[in-house]
Amino acid sequence: NCETAMFEAKAAGRANYHFFSPEMNVANRDRLELGAALREALAGGQLSLAFQPQIDRNSEGLYGVEALARWTHPRLGPVGPDRFIPVAEQIGMIEDIGLWALRAACAQLAQWRAAGRNVPTISVNISAKQFRDGAFCQQVGETLAAYGLEPSDLTIEITESLMLDQTSAVSANTDTLSEMGVNLSMDDFGTGYSSLSLIARLPVNELKIDRAFIDRLESDAGAQAVATAVICIGQSLNMRVVAEGVETDAQRRFLDALGCDAQQGYLYSRPLTAQAMDEWFDARAGRSGASRRRA
Ligand code: C2E
Ligand code: MG
Ligand code: MG
Ligand code: MG
Repeated sequence: NCETAMFEAKAAGRANYHFFSPEMNVANRDRLELGAALREALAGGQLSLAFQPQIDRNSEGLYGVEALARWTHPRLGPVGPDRFIPVAEQIGMIEDIGLWALRAACAQLAQWRAAGRNVPTISVNISAKQFRDGAFCQQVGETLAAYGLEPSDLTIEITESLMLDQTSAVSANTDTLSEMGVNLSMDDFGTGYSSLSLIARLPVNELKIDRAFIDRLESDAGAQAVATAVICIGQSLNMRVVAEGVETDAQRRFLDALGCDAQQGYLYSRPLTAQAMDEWFDARAGRSGASRRRA
């Protein structure tokens, strides 16, 4: 039950659920090595988006799609967002990359809609720094209008730690986006230090259970307690809960039993290129068509 889960989660929290960012010297080296290249990357079209489906566990339909930034450097090859997003933040490029990702994601959603694909919403990851910028909400509105999308077609994922930064610009931007009707999702939930009273006050529609807890669901009672507690919090606060990083059938069943709304992870699909997403849509349509014919 919820109360026991919350108690166990609290105990687990004390037992060291902290996920530290890469070491400082790695960050410095990356900034020097990748900074200049990253400036060229955006202008030179080296950045792209990968798309990962999220499955609605009640209907088995598509719940949404998360857009994830990808960088393929002509000489270095693929560089992951866990490396280049922190660099972009340090060298003052994150606002440009965030806007690029927002526009590219909306363009892709509009294209899917035009092709008759049923994609309820697209999720875009936005950094803390972008939220401190007063122009951001207006840019979101302009982008939605430019692609003929409704605010609810867009979900903005913000990490739990940003949400804790209740400086006036951040909370003004979250309030404005929420009033516009844009969905707000708290990413990597369970790794930060949110108080329940803060979460209840924020205009958040969705909680994403961090992958670290899903990873350990089968082996670690503490991780189970955190996942259970997050689902309880979501249910009591009328928020949807999405589990990320679902890789095994046992994890799927555990989350289903707790009533987690949606799941995302390699069990369903890796992040895909736009073209591979099209094949994924076709394959699913073929499967459901086949089962309908059998019925
Ligand atoms: P995130 O938003 O929490 O995204 C989930 C990450 O988990 C993604 O890593 C995804 O590829 C990975 N993942 C999904 N399912 C599984 C699974 O079943 N197993 C495993 N092992 N991993 C899975 P990715 O794409 O490398 O992105 C890492 C992080 O970089 C993201 O974490 C997000 O915080 C950040 N990021 C990615 N794209 C953007 C962007 O456009 N803007 C900003 N600001 N951050 C971004
Ligand atoms: Mg995310
Ligand atoms: Mg996440
Ligand atoms: Mg994460």
